[in-house]
Amino acid sequence: MAAHIIAAVRSDPDLTNYAELTDAVCAVRIASRVTRRLQAALGGVFLTKDDRSPVTVADYAAQALVSLVLPPEDAIVGEETSPDLVTAEGREVMARVADAVRSELPGVAANQVGEAIDRCSNAGGATGRFWVLDPIDGTKGFLRGDQYAIALGLMEDGEVVGGVLGCPNLPSANGRGCLFAAARGRGAWELPLDEDGPPRRIGVSSVADSTEAVFCESAVSMHSDRGGHAGIAERLGVTAAPVRMDSQCKYGAIARGDASIYLRLPSSATYREKIWDHAAGFIVVTEAGGTVTDAFGRKLDFSLGRTLETNRGVVATNGLLHRKVLAAAAAVLPEAPAA
Ligand code: AMP
Ligand code: MG
Repeated sequence: MAAHIIAAVRSDPDLTNYAELTDAVCAVRIASRVTRRLQAALGGVFLTKDDRSPVTVADYAAQALVSLVLPPEDAIVGEETSPDLVTAEGREVMARVADAVRSELPGVAANQVGEAIDRCSNAGGATGRFWVLDPIDGTKGFLRGDQYAIALGLMEDGEVVGGVLGCPNLPSANGRGCLFAAARGRGAWELPLDEDGPPRRIGVSSVADSTEAVFCESAVSMHSDRGGHAGIAERLGVTAAPVRMDSQCKYGAIARGDASIYLRLPSSATYREKIWDHAAGFIVVTEAGGTVTDAFGRKLDFSLGRTLETNRGVVATNGLLHRKVLAAAAAVLPEAPAA
């Protein structure tokens, strides 16, 4: 690692609870600082990817920063590949990405920024150790000035073993912005996003009566089946209106007990959930005592490459309500497709 990167990392606290996640917490904090500035300054150049989803300077800058801070020998499965530098638009975006990266890591050359982004092209799979990165999860929320998350999961031999979620706009005890971190068998924790401070152990809500449950769903109607969610809520006697929120901040909300159900029923038969949209959130919720499965109650299988190929949708709960929610989901869903 370059000297200036080591200096940036060392200035962050040594989280003795999370020895293996120290780099990840530092990386997410640094990326969060940059994305906050970029969100405040929006008006931004942004591109549309082949699948028509938006991608901003901030997506690339956050991916580059996390990639530069993590140990260079570590493998990373990241959502983005660097923009096509042949087009004028692509070159302009990359110049702005490099500026954004240098605001935290001065001295990084433009070609190192491109390499850092493209280094995150690991295919994932069932063996070995690798990071799973969504540099800006909830890009649509980011562009709207709403919630988004920097999501970094750690996989070992096909299982999620750690995760960090930076949530720059999520309310916390100190104001706005918080960070969640979890490691397998060690619990889930909330930390301040900006400054050193003691981690606070978090746990899911104790709501066992579904009529008292609060549920959350994506703020983007196309990303899940809101009609199905309303059907589940009706069957469970849920009276509170759904909390609509972008990104894996929803997993953070479940993990610390703000809500007790997160519904993400599939909105299309062909869409496959991406591992970077769920890995960090999955471990944060499960280590907080909650349960996460697909919409049909199946274990999420992160070992099959870049997508959750054999799963459909996601349901996360405080655990106590999981069986009831799945039973209600079964009543509104078509038959489970073959895995
Ligand atoms: P959320 O903010 O919860 O809607 O999640 C944002 C993520 O939804 C993005 O990172 C996309 O990868 C993902 N996404 C895009 N299209 C779909 C879809 N049709 N169904 C489910 N997720 C989607
Ligand atoms: Mg995402």
